[in-house]
Amino acid sequence: MLSVVIPAYNEEKMIQKTTSVTGSILQKAKIPYELVFVNDGSRDHTWAEIENAAKKDGHVTGIHFSRNFGKESAIFAGLANASGDCIAVMDCDLQHPPETLVEMYRLWEQGYEVIEGVKRSRGKESALHKASAGLFYKIMSSAVKIDMSRASDFKLMDRKVVDALLEMPERNAFFRALSSWVGFCSTSVEFDVQERTEGESKWSTWSLVKYAVRNIVGFSTVPLQMVTLAGGVMLLFGIILGIQSLIKYFLGHAVEGFTTVILLILIIGSLIMISLGIIGIYISKIYEEVKNRPRYIISKKIHGKKEC
Ligand code: UDP
Ligand code: MG
Repeated sequence: MLSVVIPAYNEEKMIQKTTSVTGSILQKAKIPYELVFVNDGSRDHTWAEIENAAKKDGHVTGIHFSRNFGKESAIFAGLANASGDCIAVMDCDLQHPPETLVEMYRLWEQGYEVIEGVKRSRGKESALHKASAGLFYKIMSSAVKIDMSRASDFKLMDRKVVDALLEMPERNAFFRALSSWVGFCSTSVEFDVQERTEGESKWSTWSLVKYAVRNIVGFSTVPLQMVTLAGGVMLLFGIILGIQSLIKYFLGHAVEGFTTVILLILIIGSLIMISLGIIGIYISKIYEEVKNRPRYIISKKIHGKKEC
């Protein structure tokens, strides 16, 4: 059976549509399936819509979070509650075309264990958004050592892979990269990002910046090494300036006074503060991990036609 995990945050208008569109495509392809909707603490009627869908359609399972925990947590809750032999993750807004699920499922039947959906085109985005996403994926690609520039959360995984992912103890999991990191026999299918028909994107620029910082810190220690590198460069700079000042002193010239001092204080001061900030980000992530809080809290579940 194929389980499709669908994180949903304020998607009241999309639940019915996603259920029927995905359902009819999978039924036509004769693929046994279940849809696992994870309501990530929506503030609209998403949960009521999921309950409705579950009452009407035995394929639908719903999980209700006690509050908004974020898409990554919703994905992991869906994976933990899915019972299929292979499990796909798909957005609720139909930007990931459900037809591709059939293609992915056929590849899984051929023996592939991870089938990544890669974006053929990125859909409509502003130039600034494209540029910053490009930079983010460059950093992430070098950290994970896999090209991530076209990666998405749309993928299908074998049960084995999902079990491996669920065993990971880290709270701050970046699903998109972890599914490559675990390895296994993988392949990819291309898809075109569709336009969102209802509702709006949940990502503000600020939330994207936070997301980028969190995932870079979660996967890479390069920023910490940059602190050391900056220290090295400053030391070199200091030695040169020191020698120059001494030579000038012995030759009887005075070093130009305040400008040098002010510049040095400013440069060193800001470098130290940035360095402390970078170390601070890592410490806060370590703090979050050692608290070992659950990734999410489920307050309600609905399965097929019965509530539990
Ligand atoms: N989503 C979620 N929790 C959040 C934000 C988003 O579960 O806090 C879900 C959302 O319902 C959708 C998917 O993640 O199914 C992708 O969100 P969105 O379409 O807003 O992102 P975009 O397509 O613009 O990257
Ligand atoms: Mg979307």
